[in-house]
Amino acid sequence: MPTETESETETEEVSDAEVLERYPTTTIDQDNKEFYKGWLRRRLLLNRCAACGHWHHPPAPLCPQCWSRDVVPTEVSGRGTVHLLIRLHQGPPAPGVDYTKGPYPVVSVELVEQSGLRFTSTVVNCAPEDLRIGLPVTLTWIDRAGAPFPVFAPADETADTTTAAE
Ligand code: ZN
Repeated sequence: MPTETESETETEEVSDAEVLERYPTTTIDQDNKEFYKGWLRRRLLLNRCAACGHWHHPPAPLCPQCWSRDVVPTEVSGRGTVHLLIRLHQGPPAPGVDYTKGPYPVVSVELVEQSGLRFTSTVVNCAPEDLRIGLPVTLTWIDRAGAPFPVFAPADETADTTTAAE
């Protein structure tokens, strides 16, 4: 086994080989590799256009707003609200998903950075009856199949009041 892998720190570059090795079931390509490298550093990087400032997701090499190729993976705050909520009662086997524990929530979260900018994942640390559309949430990271995986948790509303809106 390769042992040259060093500890994950914010400043460290993640190699292409490492991201492929850590997310073996994910299709990683030229367009999305920076996105998944961000995962390994527990940073959610979405593409933002350097020309017009527009965000887009999933990652594409071209800004959908102005067609500029100058798109830069940029970290988002991770704050948003539940836009769409699906409770999966069954489905294909997936790492970290256990349908016997109750419906698995899938949420599309509209991020505060831009209207319509959404990221889909699940919600943790939330009682099923508290989970609803419009719920303020914040990004957090869990370990899934041995690698960081971005999820959402209900926003700490006391902390929320100290953060100014953009
Ligand atoms: Zn643009």
